[in-house]
Amino acid sequence: MEQQFKEQYDVIIVGGGPAGIMAALASARVGAATLVIERNGFLGGAATNSVLGPISPFHFGDEQVINGIPQEFMDELIKVHGSTGHLKTLDPYGSGAYLGFYDREKYKYVAEEMMLKDGVQIYYHAFISQVKKDGNRVMGVTAVTKAGSKEFACKILVDASGDGDAAVLAGADYVYGNENTGKAQPGSAMFEMAEVDTDKVYDYIYENPEDFEWKSDLVPIREYSDRLKQHYFVAQGFKKLVKKAVEAGDLQFGRDSVIVLNGIHPGSIHFNATRVSGYNSSDPEEKAISEIDGRRQIESVSEFMIKYVPGFEKSYVSVTSNEVGVRETRHIKGLYTLTGEDAGEGRKFKDVVSRGYFPMDIHNPDGASGYTEGSQGGCWVDLKDTYDIPMRCLIPMGIDGLVLSGRCISGTSEAHGSYRTQGGIMGIGQASGVLAGLCAVQGIQPKDMDVEQVQKKLIEFGASVFRDEEKKAGEEAHAKKCVKEYMKKRVKYITKEEVIKKFFE
Ligand SMILES: Cc1cc2nc3c(=O)[nH]c(=O)nc-3n(C[C@H](O)[C@H](O)[C@H](O)COP(=O)(O)OP(=O)(O)OC[C@H]3O[C@@H](n4cnc5c(N)ncnc54)[C@H](O)[C@@H]3O)c2cc1C
Repeated sequence: MEQQFKEQYDVIIVGGGPAGIMAALASARVGAATLVIERNGFLGGAATNSVLGPISPFHFGDEQVINGIPQEFMDELIKVHGSTGHLKTLDPYGSGAYLGFYDREKYKYVAEEMMLKDGVQIYYHAFISQVKKDGNRVMGVTAVTKAGSKEFACKILVDASGDGDAAVLAGADYVYGNENTGKAQPGSAMFEMAEVDTDKVYDYIYENPEDFEWKSDLVPIREYSDRLKQHYFVAQGFKKLVKKAVEAGDLQFGRDSVIVLNGIHPGSIHFNATRVSGYNSSDPEEKAISEIDGRRQIESVSEFMIKYVPGFEKSYVSVTSNEVGVRETRHIKGLYTLTGEDAGEGRKFKDVVSRGYFPMDIHNPDGASGYTEGSQGGCWVDLKDTYDIPMRCLIPMGIDGLVLSGRCISGTSEAHGSYRTQGGIMGIGQASGVLAGLCAVQGIQPKDMDVEQVQKKLIEFGASVFRDEEKKAGEEAHAKKCVKEYMKKRVKYITKEEVIKKFFE
């Protein structure tokens, strides 16, 4: 096993989450010697470490907006029996237009193998503690390891740490959460239960529609492994049972309903159910306490499921998050700050490097449940159209040698509510890797990079930087055909009747 680490790299990427993985692959593919520094001993960030369920859509309606290396990653996962690919949600409200279920262990493996194949080096178990600068230019990083401090130099540093750790250490300006309220979206301690009778769960949802805020059946649009075949669905509710359990003192958690989805493997159910609210996860002391809160909620919710919900009688908790999943912390100030209005109106920018497509999905920072009007409580706002992510959002204000990636890019809390899911983040990651790689190879600063070069390279990699009307029409026709086929075979739906009717029109 060859991994000869060097002292100097063209590009160093802090963090191996969905953004860092894509950034690393893109950077290596433009010819930059690339190192990823990751504090865990595996890749995937929140997607694996915090036990996420599915990859939210790469799509706006049926148009696939995120393409290129992120789709190649999905294809590799499908090949090793690790994903269903994108499944179409019949009712997108609450979970988006498509969901791509994946096996988290395969996710770690595939990401690592793709990186190694492209010559990316991965330095695991190292935590960035310092960023070295010369004037306003980043020159390298210091990482804390088991053997003390280790220094690396680089031409360009990419911050894909989620919280923007590297940018903050470099002195960048940032906003924590929502600029007006000072609050951020809550975290969730995720978990899964195995040995669940999922047909019984489905039947309960089918027979008690009024007990659910939203729910949908999911339709396959391509072939995937027989090992993963089951009827996939998603639902948020069990409100009657939750109320009963809370009143009986059997359930303590920060909301009044539970979201359930299938786990990737038949017989398992995934829970995006707890609300770990009011903690600043970039503050070490608050983060420590939040883990205890999260674990208590997992215990309470899982025991509630076993005691109250049909189908869970013989089940048990099979996996819990290693770290409470953190939805939102710092937004680093860049040359442009993307706003909720930009996202909602579907604004286009000349320096587009990726595209946003997911509704603004802001979980209530104060805990509780569901969506309310406006972004102060918690909301789900559909977009008028896809919007562009400008390259300027990836370039921090006043600092050279640094590129932002993933959830810490320059955007308001509302805009982040849209681009924060994995598809959006992977698209941003791919763009940040091309930008960083080209800057390092050509010896120029991100702020001086010609965006057309970045766009050209992204298109070469297969990214959908601009809408292709013909491709979009083909994707819509294919989805329609798949739904028709699906409906021929299925007699029962949990999806709302009025939504189902539309497909028969
Ligand atoms: C509770 C929850 C539920 C979610 N549900 C969904 C969902 O259903 N579908 C979906 O598509 N998306 C979902 N998301 C969003 C998804 O998790 C994010 O889009 C994605 O993980 C963000 O990727 P990232 O690479 O920017 O950051 P992260 O995933 O946070 O990755 C950051 C990486 O950097 C590393 N790191 C951090 N600091 C340092 C440091 N100082 N030194 C070295 N390494 C460091 C971390 O270990 C991590 O590997 C959810 C998120 C949460 C929190």
